[in-house]
Amino acid sequence: MQPPLIDPFARAITYLRVSVTDRCDFRCTYCMAEHMQFLPKADLLTLEELERLCGAFVDLGVRKLRITGGEPLVRRNILSFFQAMSARLGAGLDELTVTTNGSQLARFAQPLADLGVRRINVSLDTLNPDKFAAITRWGRLPQVLDGIRAARDAGLRVKINTVALKGFNEDELFSLLDWCAGEGHDLTFIEVMPMGEMGEEMRLDQYWALSDLRARLDQRLTLTPLAERTGGPARYVRVEETGQKIGFITPLTHNFCESCNRVRVTCTGELFMCLGQEDRADLRAPLRASDDDDALRQTIRAAIARKPKGHDFDYTRGVAGQMSRHMSHTGG
Ligand code: SAM
Ligand code: SF4
Repeated sequence: MQPPLIDPFARAITYLRVSVTDRCDFRCTYCMAEHMQFLPKADLLTLEELERLCGAFVDLGVRKLRITGGEPLVRRNILSFFQAMSARLGAGLDELTVTTNGSQLARFAQPLADLGVRRINVSLDTLNPDKFAAITRWGRLPQVLDGIRAARDAGLRVKINTVALKGFNEDELFSLLDWCAGEGHDLTFIEVMPMGEMGEEMRLDQYWALSDLRARLDQRLTLTPLAERTGGPARYVRVEETGQKIGFITPLTHNFCESCNRVRVTCTGELFMCLGQEDRADLRAPLRASDDDDALRQTIRAAIARKPKGHDFDYTRGVAGQMSRHMSHTGG
């Protein structure tokens, strides 16, 4: 038995988000440049290294693992990785989840369900096929809707993640909500974050404060705040008229840092102790230096001992793309 990971602010680290690739079959305008420079393959952790790394975190008390990217389901042989993680379910790990753009779900939903995945997050910013093609550049809406249906048919609980984008999906607020209610999906809105250099001046123009979005919901619906806390930046309400649950992720406010229970690992094995800070630890070196996990565990512990109290996002400085890394690198 290893002692659990506790940070300097007495927060137990029980949730790991792992980006298994920086590649993606979409090019969402707020996430990637159209002609992205991806990392050299040799820099990426192999699936076996990812397995060892996640296994080490589970040994250290991580109970929830979310697989993300880039688009996790475009990584070759990704099911073998899920298979290995699935073996830890009930043996340290409580939950194995995925965040996906849905493009590959038609073929992966059932195998994922068979491996013990119970819930998935699917990103969907619009139900209009033309707008969908415009915002994702390379994505096609029917393919994603097919994927979402396959997920539901496989018994997966689907949560839709929608990035709130000024002038883009403001007019779809209620149609998205109604569609999710009809399909039985929860819905979470995400405030757009200043991540990565896009070479475009878009980010600040796209910013639609969730306080405004919520005020618009309030005008038509009765929203009851829920006590539910995930340790992350989401806050939930219940719509009394439909019973639907709506989440709001506002990473630019500090309202979640005190209860932060999570860390992130990139596809190159960099451990970020905070989404909004640059400090990181290289886990690839100890992984590759030795077959036993002692050095790896020591590096993880030393990093958690430096986990900061909170982040430093600040739009008031008026700089888009403040965090030099892309969301697809850290994993959203
Ligand atoms: N490709 C998968 C997907 O789109 O769900 C997983 C990775 S993606 C980086 C994870 C989440 O981050 C998505 O919900 C996406 O909408 C969100 N995201 C990407 N860039 C963002 C940004 N600049 N601000 C806020 N959310 C962002
Ligand atoms: Fe790909 Fe997801 Fe980024 Fe869109 S948000 S480009 S789907 S990684």
